[in-house]
Amino acid sequence: MRLVNAAGRAALVFDGRLVDVVSASAGRWSARVHELYESWDTFSQWVRRNDAQLRARAVNGPQISDVRLAAPVPFPRQVFAIGLNYREHAREGGAEIPSTPMVFTKFPSAITGPTDSVVLPSQYVDFEAELVVVIGKPAEGVGAHEAWHYVAGLTLGQDLSERAVQTAPPKPQQYSLAKSYRGFAPVGPVLATPDEFANPDDVEISCHLNGVEMQRARTSDLIFDVPHLVEYLSSIVTLLPGDLVFTGTPSGIGWVRDPRVVLRPDDVLVTSGDRIGSMRNTFTRPTK
Ligand code: ZN
Repeated sequence: MRLVNAAGRAALVFDGRLVDVVSASAGRWSARVHELYESWDTFSQWVRRNDAQLRARAVNGPQISDVRLAAPVPFPRQVFAIGLNYREHAREGGAEIPSTPMVFTKFPSAITGPTDSVVLPSQYVDFEAELVVVIGKPAEGVGAHEAWHYVAGLTLGQDLSERAVQTAPPKPQQYSLAKSYRGFAPVGPVLATPDEFANPDDVEISCHLNGVEMQRARTSDLIFDVPHLVEYLSSIVTLLPGDLVFTGTPSGIGWVRDPRVVLRPDDVLVTSGDRIGSMRNTFTRPTK
């Protein structure tokens, strides 16, 4: 299943065309995509059971490219983000490979859509393309072997980061704040369920800045893969439906390049992933 938030209404995607969830279900399901995660197993069963009718309906639906998409998870209660989860990225930043996942948060108010413009608060903003996990049911003490059953699907995220606030000694490190400016968490465009992937533990993600490739990696290179992240996080906190886990960024970020690359007004940042599609975010300078 591929699900989008089409201008505030939940819609399914079949061959590039959209089916409105409310109309197709005669009102059984909510238009608000975040409410679907609360009954994810039942909702997915309904989609599977009605596959033929939904596909037939999609033929006359709007093209996905004609609709302005919002974040497929607009109001997560918790957003986890993992630092240093690709070996190459740990190396480029001169950091040790962690023995357990390094976890911080992006506050949920930073969430924005896959084609939205983001205001740059300073000249120190960097990009981080990431695979993002969407939790599908409450998870407490879930083992890695069963973790995928607790995942609603996968999407993409940009872990935008203000590096001067993040790490500027002697000031304290501010990972969570530096990554939570308004609009610093673009998410989307599509939520794709694990069965959409040949192997959900081996998804290619990439990132292009103004047409130039900056990052490309496969999630099979993660130090802590999705099942182990779910196991580790759920050993400490209860994961809730619609929670997000930003799984970490591969090498190629702008801050450690020589010369350094930062995001500037009018830049175009395209973040892509297998079966998920591409986000295209632009940037503006503050108006005041
Ligand atoms: Zn990150």
